[in-house]
Amino acid sequence: MTDGCGRITDYLRLSVTDKCNLRCRYCMPCEVERLSHHDILSIEETSRICAILCDLGIRRIRITGGEPLVRKGITELVQRLSEIDSAPAIMMTTNGVLLADRIDSLIDAGLKSVNISLDTTDRNAYARLTGEDALQDVIAAVDAAYSSGMRVRINCVPIRGINDDELVKIAMFASDRAIDVRFIELMPIGCANAYEGISSEEVRSTLTKAFGEREWAAEGGTGEGPAVYYNLRGFCGRIGYISPMSHPFCSSCNRIRLTQTGQLKPCLYYPDSADLRKMIRGGCSDEDIKKAIMSCINNKPAEHGFGSSSPDHDNRQMFQIGG
Ligand code: SAM
Ligand code: SF4
Repeated sequence: MTDGCGRITDYLRLSVTDKCNLRCRYCMPCEVERLSHHDILSIEETSRICAILCDLGIRRIRITGGEPLVRKGITELVQRLSEIDSAPAIMMTTNGVLLADRIDSLIDAGLKSVNISLDTTDRNAYARLTGEDALQDVIAAVDAAYSSGMRVRINCVPIRGINDDELVKIAMFASDRAIDVRFIELMPIGCANAYEGISSEEVRSTLTKAFGEREWAAEGGTGEGPAVYYNLRGFCGRIGYISPMSHPFCSSCNRIRLTQTGQLKPCLYYPDSADLRKMIRGGCSDEDIKKAIMSCINNKPAEHGFGSSSPDHDNRQMFQIGG
C-alpha cells in the first residue's frame, strides 16, 4: 500500500485494549473512563481486519494497548494472526509485568519478538512511576524472554525528574546480552504534557560521558523502524534512539494504527480515522473494507503536528490510541 505521499505502508500497530495493570504517570490517569465490552473489537473481528490489512500489504503487526497481556484471549489472537496466509511477523509491546509465565505459550502461538517497557531499575522509583511494586516481575520477564531465544528490546522514555538519573543503568541491559535498549522521546500526548521529556541528543551525551567515547558506529535504522542504533564497544546489544520530537521520521513513516474500537488511524497525532468496526458490524464485504482502508491510507498526512500550535490533534491519551 502506498499513501498519498508515496510512502509504503507495511506496518500495523494493533491496540487490543485500553485497560492496563499499571498507571504510568505520563501515560494514564489514575481514574479513567472504561470502554464497554461491546465497544471493543472481538478477537474474531480483530483477526478479520488484520487479515484484510495483510492482504493489502501489511507485513508486520505489533500488538500493543493499554497492556496487551490483560486482554482476554490474547494468546488466541497471536495464534490467529500468525496463521494469516501472508505470514506477517507478530510482535508485542508490553510492560512485562505478566509476561514471564506466559512467554512459552505466546511463542507457541507465534509471537516473534517482544519490546518490554522499562523506565527505571530502581524499585521505589518504579512503584512511584507506575503505581505498582512490580519491578522484579519486569526483570524476570526480560530474563525469561531473553532465555527463550526470541528477540527482546527494552524501551525507555527519558523524563526529567523521573528517570534522568537512571539512563545509564537502563543502557546496561545491553551490556552482556544481545538486547537492544531504545530511548524514546516523550511526545506531548495527554498526561505526558505535565512532564518534560529529555532529547535523544541529551541522552546520548549522558551515555557518552558515562561510557567514554566508545560509541563507534551509527548503523542507522534497521530498515524496520525509526530507531537509529549505535554500537558501544564491549556491549552485546545496541543502543537506539527514537526521536519523534527532535528528528521527526514522518517522511519515512510506514505505519498505521488500529485502535481497540476498530478505528484505523493513519497518524498518531491527528484524530482522523476510518471506522472499520462500523463497517464489519454493518455487514460490509472485505472488498468494501479494503476500499475504506486504501482511502484512509491515501489521505495519510505528510507529517505530525507535535511541537506546533495546531489545535487539530487527537485529544485522547496514549493508552486510548494505542502506544
Ligand atoms: N502497556 C504497554 C507498554 O507499556 O509497553 C504497551 C502500551 S504503552 C502505551 C507503549 C509504549 O508507549 C510504552 O513504551 C510507553 O512508555 C510509551 N509511551 C506512553 N506514553 C508516551 C508518550 N507520551 N511519549 C512517548 N512514549 C510514550
Ligand atoms: Fe500502561 Fe503501558 Fe501506559 Fe504504562 S505505558 S500506563 S504500562 S499502557
